Amino acid sequence: MSTLALAFDLGGTELRGALVERGGEVVARVSEPTMAEAGSEAVIGRIIALANKLLDDHPQAKVLGIGACAPGPLDPKAGIVIGPPTLSGWHNVPMIDILSRQFGLPVRLENDANAAALGEWRYGAGRGSESLVFVTVSTGIGGGVIADGHIYHGRRGLAAEIGHMTITGEGDRCFCGNVGCFEAVASGTALGRRATRLTAPGDGSQLRRLSSNGDVSARHVVEAARMGDAVARDLVEAEAHWLGIGFTNLLHLYSPEVIVMGGGLSNGFDLLAPGIRATINERAMQAYRDVPVVPAELGDRAGLVGAASLILWEGEPGTALSMVQDQETGDGASGPAGARAG
Ligand SMILES: [Zn+2]
Repeated sequence: MSTLALAFDLGGTELRGALVERGGEVVARVSEPTMAEAGSEAVIGRIIALANKLLDDHPQAKVLGIGACAPGPLDPKAGIVIGPPTLSGWHNVPMIDILSRQFGLPVRLENDANAAALGEWRYGAGRGSESLVFVTVSTGIGGGVIADGHIYHGRRGLAAEIGHMTITGEGDRCFCGNVGCFEAVASGTALGRRATRLTAPGDGSQLRRLSSNGDVSARHVVEAARMGDAVARDLVEAEAHWLGIGFTNLLHLYSPEVIVMGGGLSNGFDLLAPGIRATINERAMQAYRDVPVVPAELGDRAGLVGAASLILWEGEPGTALSMVQDQETGDGASGPAGARAG
């Protein structure tokens, strides 16, 4: 079996683990509810159990290390999950320390949006580019920036919090406390909220029929727009306009070769694309208008394969792979075996 990395994507609701090959292929995958409220020790206990299960199920696997991603804020260099709002009870948890001691393997950590950006850049829709912006549009808006062949971290790894750039002076308050954040006006949540306000239970609208007269979600809007519903089409048009404004800012700031859009709302990418393009053509300066905006390719495995690439990607400084290759070309010794916890 080829060289592999163990990968973990620690989300607020779901904990995913995988064995990933050098080419980004997911060989095996497991997941379970995070149950974050049980606290960091319990969750890390389950990460360790999942890792042992993956290793036990694949005894031939030559595992080089562990790549993990988790919600920010986190410090990728120190390997510390600082205290994400979606993981209650997590406060300065030294993930790299804990996992490397447990498994005797190199461990790398990255925030989940950056890991997904790495995944799409190395194995997905952004393959071959030098600079890329990845935007995930679902409950919130997050993203990662690849600039000149490197993930852009900024001070304390806090760069590219693109969901909280201010793009208007009005509207609903963002959970961060501000008004007019990109996320507050253009996330799937915001789209669903607009649709819910425009309609009423029992009004006979397509949107309320799809939602069984409950709150309307972004998914319902996309579905109704596909059925030709006029209200939904207007909502999609307005959504595309807001996304286009945000993307125009990203073009001007980072000058990527491509913008990759992922997240739940990318299900409606084909419907949104014309409006996004029209807004960019209207607002971006001439030199930026030919940059393609494309849908993500990796779906919910982007974070896993991106995290794995922290271990496996040739040229990534300090990866387990490069250390093994140095050893192999140096003294002919083989790399670290897939050590495991008992
Ligand atoms: Zn905000």
